Amino acid sequence: MPTSAIHYPTASLKPHREESLLSGHLWIFSGALQQPPHWIPAGGLVDVKSSTGQFVARGYYNPQTDIAIRILTHNVEEAIDASFLRRRIRSALELRGIFDPSQTNTYRLLNSEGDGLPGVIVDRYADILVVQIHTAGMVRMRSMLIDVLMEEAAARGLLLRNDSQSRHREGLELEEPVVAAGDVPAQVLVRENGIQFFVDPWQGQKTGLFIDQRDKRAALCKYVRGKRVLNCFSYTGGFSVYAALTSKETNVTSVDISAPAIEAARQNFTLNGIDVNPHQFLIADVFDYLEQAQHNGELFDVVVLDPPAFAKTQSARGQALKAYRRLNMLGIQVLRPDGILLTCSCSGVIGMDDLLGTLSQVSQRLRRPVQLLESYTHSVDHPTNLVMPETAYLKALFCRVG
Ligand code: SAH
Repeated sequence: MPTSAIHYPTASLKPHREESLLSGHLWIFSGALQQPPHWIPAGGLVDVKSSTGQFVARGYYNPQTDIAIRILTHNVEEAIDASFLRRRIRSALELRGIFDPSQTNTYRLLNSEGDGLPGVIVDRYADILVVQIHTAGMVRMRSMLIDVLMEEAAARGLLLRNDSQSRHREGLELEEPVVAAGDVPAQVLVRENGIQFFVDPWQGQKTGLFIDQRDKRAALCKYVRGKRVLNCFSYTGGFSVYAALTSKETNVTSVDISAPAIEAARQNFTLNGIDVNPHQFLIADVFDYLEQAQHNGELFDVVVLDPPAFAKTQSARGQALKAYRRLNMLGIQVLRPDGILLTCSCSGVIGMDDLLGTLSQVSQRLRRPVQLLESYTHSVDHPTNLVMPETAYLKALFCRVG
């Protein structure tokens, strides 16, 4: 049995509950614990031991959630301190070294479980870091984390955006955005695949930009040259700017319910030297817009559907599937025969099979055959742990619809 000088209070598992941890899974549900650790504050560190007393892993504990323990290391010799955080962050930065900063200087620097640091997300916008802390365990490491991040990422400023609803599950309050180090301007200019975007890290949705779509935006370009493109749920114009840059003849309609997002989309066109005049920017509910467009007999060559998550929990799955069906039905009805559809889902509880099933139902209903062209998940800076498919959320399909 491995012994070590490094010890934390013990959390004991029920018999045979160590299997998934040994395969690299990072969650322990409360039902797997034989004996919840005593006298541990929410987020305190624990050593997880098998029912026979063997060390299995080390992590942090929160009695308030179903996911009672999140694992930080399987190595008995690894203390959870600033050096530990530094190793994880360096490893994450090494992966992001694939980006040429002259082309792409915005990426997810830390993707929680996917980078071996459960409970924290860090998005980089040029020299600004935007951090979301989701768990009590990470709150306890907060100041150490901020110091190490600032050093390792050579950042100018770090903004904490602890306003995600998921904090409630951990018994944490939502907070106003706050600068935790350096200084953070109201607007940051970033490059993604050589294309420029303004990002508002303070009030933008999530951390400011949906960088998980970078590769899908690039993939879209080959389909849109000279075409009439409809970008539904456009936010600040990610897909729209890429499309409009492919040729002067490409015409893009961007639709979003958020007025600030549509205004930012216009600014992002101008920023990239695109004349906004031929293009349409509409503040509208996509469902209403599509119904009206269909009624008016409008047809597009390419339709992008990138809605917000329709389901956050298992219990919302049924309703969400209905919404995806309706959305894809409406989207296809304004797509000309042999047009291109990019359809996405960022609901964690909706799998790739669900999205494929939805499309095939819609295809049958409308008698519009669908050819599957490309399928994607997150971009590469959003790695997921192989044995934790439940932490993957994004699915995207490029199709041609007859
Ligand atoms: N495709 C975008 C990200 C979309 S995020 C990108 O690449 O950056 C989802 C967007 O949907 C948000 O901007 C939100 O304002 C918008 N939204 C949510 N519900 C909507 C609705 N019913 N109609 C129109 N837009 C909606």
